Amino acid sequence: MTATIIDGKALAAKVRTEVAASVAELDHVGIATVLVGDDPASHVYIDLKQKAAAAAGIEAIDHRVPAGTSQDDVLALIADLNADDAVDGLLVQLPLPGHIDEWTAIEAIDPAKDIDGIHPENAGRLYLGRPALVPGTPLGVMRMLEEYAIPLAGANAVVIGRSVIVGKPMAQLLLAANATVTTCHSRTRDLARHTREADVLVAAVGRPHMVGAEMVKPGAAVIDVGLSRTEAGLLGDVDPAVAGVAGHLTPVPGGVGPMTIAMVLQNTVAAARARRGMLANPAH
Ligand code: NAP
Repeated sequence: MTATIIDGKALAAKVRTEVAASVAELDHVGIATVLVGDDPASHVYIDLKQKAAAAAGIEAIDHRVPAGTSQDDVLALIADLNADDAVDGLLVQLPLPGHIDEWTAIEAIDPAKDIDGIHPENAGRLYLGRPALVPGTPLGVMRMLEEYAIPLAGANAVVIGRSVIVGKPMAQLLLAANATVTTCHSRTRDLARHTREADVLVAAVGRPHMVGAEMVKPGAAVIDVGLSRTEAGLLGDVDPAVAGVAGHLTPVPGGVGPMTIAMVLQNTVAAARARRGMLANPAH
């Protein structure tokens, strides 16, 4: 079998067009990003988000403050942006410098503007099956599965990884879609025993090519979230040989990556609508 390649780039472009159309319907949509310090990768991510937001017609406000900025000053900036009616979505780029407590900063974000979906109120709402803003990466994976008509109800879904931003919300979303979900992690015994049972396999670890063809059930949908910068370039968690076994496979690059930013923009529109009382469920 040769897997159908899930084209994340094309789907992300479609989502961004949908977002631009929604933005045009609303008077004004604004996003504010906060970056503390000079981590080069974080600057690249913020540049991408700023550019993507502007291209969709979203007003993008860019706050970059020096690494030495005190926690109090960062919290004061977040409070200002919470209070600013022109800001619908507020994103604080992680990681933060060591002297700033990440959870204190995250919990300071107004949950209604938390377009990364990591505020405990949104995470708790997702867990409870209540309307929530959900992290862009797992939301993007769900959109890919939907777009390629991958059946989820009753399917065995295995998620490798249990981070707050990917693995845990991914498992919750698959559960909400009526899959039977297994979460694997670094302490899982005999990982392949679990993955071989998966109709849907999501790898979100960050270990290049750790999922080999022998770990995949024939015909499974395999979603590769992993991104590792190596001398050989940007590599996913899934060995390319899996294309010979899987039914569907996301490429790296051009798979989950482009979807993440598109879904953060979609979250911004959802937050804007919810703040205007136009939407009951900010996640959709
Ligand atoms: P993370 O916080 O480092 O979490 C990695 C997870 O993998 C942890 O839960 C860890 O288990 C588990 N793990 C580590 N070694 C393992 C092993 N040998 N077997 C099974 N599980 C193992 O990373 P993350 O933020 O979730 O990101 C995961 C990957 O996705 C990274 O490569 C990241 O760059 C990428 N990513 C991509 C996008 C995108 O847009 N494409 C977005 C976000 C992240 P423990 O919990 O036991 O430590």
